[in-house]
Amino acid sequence: MKLSFKALALFPVLFSLFFVFNNYYGNYYDSSSDGSEIKEIYNNSIPQDVKELMRIYRLENGNVFGAKTLRVPILMYHYVEYVKDKGDTTRISLNIPPYIFEEQIKTLISANYTFITNEELADAISGKSKLPQNPILLTFDDGYDDFYTDVFPILKKYNIKATNYVISGFLNRNNHLTDSETREIIDSKLVEIGAHTVHHSWLKGKDIKYSSQEVLDSKKELEEKFKIKVVSFAYPFGAFDKDAIEAVKKSGFKSAVSTVPGADQSLENEFFLLRLRPGARTGDSLLTWLKQKEFAAF
Ligand SMILES: [Zn+2]
Repeated sequence: MKLSFKALALFPVLFSLFFVFNNYYGNYYDSSSDGSEIKEIYNNSIPQDVKELMRIYRLENGNVFGAKTLRVPILMYHYVEYVKDKGDTTRISLNIPPYIFEEQIKTLISANYTFITNEELADAISGKSKLPQNPILLTFDDGYDDFYTDVFPILKKYNIKATNYVISGFLNRNNHLTDSETREIIDSKLVEIGAHTVHHSWLKGKDIKYSSQEVLDSKKELEEKFKIKVVSFAYPFGAFDKDAIEAVKKSGFKSAVSTVPGADQSLENEFFLLRLRPGARTGDSLLTWLKQKEFAAF
């Protein structure tokens, strides 16, 4: 009796904690058909710990480089396909149908946006090269198979560039890119392959040794298999902290993308670049939205 009273008293506390957490992070689950579960977390706004990291990097880089801010939207996609299973609400919520994706591309081309890769952005941030006018990035997480079947033909049709962050240990799995599809994508010279760990691992709060291994091994596996240089990274679940950043830097990456919303990139956030989910926006609503100063929750 005494115990159940305590349990009852705990309930509102746990409920409030759950509510606070859920308000802070909007999250979703994706169960891929091979049973491996992928969960991504999007921040509703720039979290306090990220603001603190930005402050630290500003102090580290400000005096040396002047931390110039570049306005470069990095659009983030997961699935682009016609979802066959209408009951798969998770996939539907993450998906942009190919005809909308193509409309978005047409909108951006007509507004004179230039599509660049993550490496090209990193080189511009570090002052090694200059950006074209109206630069924008198309980024795809997880290396899903529909990138080959639905996205790649559109990239080729309009001759535009993109970046795909591949989970090295998930290649050739059901629902994911095969080695030969990845080879063909690389050979097109339109797509940069970035890393996304070996096992889609959560890195925030993890031991730096563990993170370094996941991060470096994914880079090495992709580089050795495809004889390419892998210099761009995406944090699985958008989960990172100072140790995760150190692991990425030490592994020889030029930059990393997060899921923190925004379009202003600089040396302050070179290792947690801000990204945007365009949703189904096309035409003027897409263009007006891209020009916003503040971006709301994903
Ligand atoms: Zn992912």
